[in-house]
Amino acid sequence: MLLRLLLFLGCMVMVALCAEDFYKLLGLNKDASEREIKKAYRTLSKKYHPDKNPGDDTAHEKFVAVAEAYDILIDEETRRIYDQYGHEGIEQHKRGGGRPAQHHDPFDLFSRFFGGSGHFGHGGGERRGPNMEVRVAVPLRDFYNGRTTEFTVEKQAVCSACEGSGSEDGHVETCDMCGGRGMVIQRQQLAPGLFQQVQTHCSKCGGKGKTIKHPCPVCGGSRVVREPETHELHIEKGMPKGVRITYENEADESPDWVAGDLIVHLMETDPHLGQQDHERTDGTFFRRRGKDLFWREVLSLREAWMGDWTRNVTHLDGHIVQLSRKRGEVVQPNTVEVIENEGMPIWHQQLPDGIDEAFGALHVEYVVVLPDQMDKSMEKDFWSVWEKWRKKMGVSLDKENGRPEGPMPSQGHDEL
Ligand SMILES: [Zn+2]
Ligand SMILES: [Zn+2]
Repeated sequence: MLLRLLLFLGCMVMVALCAEDFYKLLGLNKDASEREIKKAYRTLSKKYHPDKNPGDDTAHEKFVAVAEAYDILIDEETRRIYDQYGHEGIEQHKRGGGRPAQHHDPFDLFSRFFGGSGHFGHGGGERRGPNMEVRVAVPLRDFYNGRTTEFTVEKQAVCSACEGSGSEDGHVETCDMCGGRGMVIQRQQLAPGLFQQVQTHCSKCGGKGKTIKHPCPVCGGSRVVREPETHELHIEKGMPKGVRITYENEADESPDWVAGDLIVHLMETDPHLGQQDHERTDGTFFRRRGKDLFWREVLSLREAWMGDWTRNVTHLDGHIVQLSRKRGEVVQPNTVEVIENEGMPIWHQQLPDGIDEAFGALHVEYVVVLPDQMDKSMEKDFWSVWEKWRKKMGVSLDKENGRPEGPMPSQGHDEL
């Protein structure tokens, strides 16, 4: 008796273990939206597809389980039953003759999402659709800080209303005119007794070999629709401009092929100040070349010459880079100051082994602006100072450079 009880308990545990929670399996919360469920299916079904994991039984089981979880959760009724009664409820629902939701063969379901016949076709001769390339531009700030964002592309997708059959009722007949070949052979008489055989596209089915009595109202029988699809975009710190990010099998879909890859070229937007605080930094106007950043700082004549100034430049993440000179420190126009480690973070793929983090340099170019307007009395003051010192210690650069003093009347250049 005890043995039987133990066996029974054992079986219960087995059942519980076998049936993994559908939400957990798809990595979702209980309140996941339809979009999130689809997204999870897209990601996981590609990951566990047997074509990608040859000989791996666990992956195959996961692939089947993910399809089942999708079928149950995407249907409102079965999802409600599952939420209330779990796996047991679903089993009873099936036994009780409840509408079996959309029960898909896992490969059919896969083909509904990615086109083709449900296989990637590595060596299987499956046709592959063309890759799709798009440019996505993000501000320099995102390349510096890293960010996860989204972008949307419009693409051709297998019509979900008819599941790519093109038929409202699911019935697709073989064309009776061409017998499904899509081609017909016509005999043309060229002259009495002289015939020519011409092979042409079947006019009845348009060369498809199949006809549909009731075309799907959503796609009009074309089996595909155009629709926007949103993808997550992970911008990693220091990614180079123009880097290519590949989304496997996310290009245009068609029942006739397996979708190719969507390739994103990550570009940089022109700098402009955003609305939010963190978008309003001086760093917005940095220019980037590889791992280095460039910045132009303007100094007045007084600052360039006499020193005693400080500038706080807000970097792309809001931290401050302080530029300064003490009194008496001269900055020549167009001098470039190189500040190490204030450039771009170096992308992890380009870091040398054993180093977790490194930065390029910030190049600050100083531009000196001379005043073109001056208060009259100020001009007088300066003038008299110049005159005073010029008489005392002014040096004629012409003489210094060994230039002859006559006969050209020389204006005389000053050092001061
Ligand atoms: Zn349709
Ligand atoms: Zn035909």
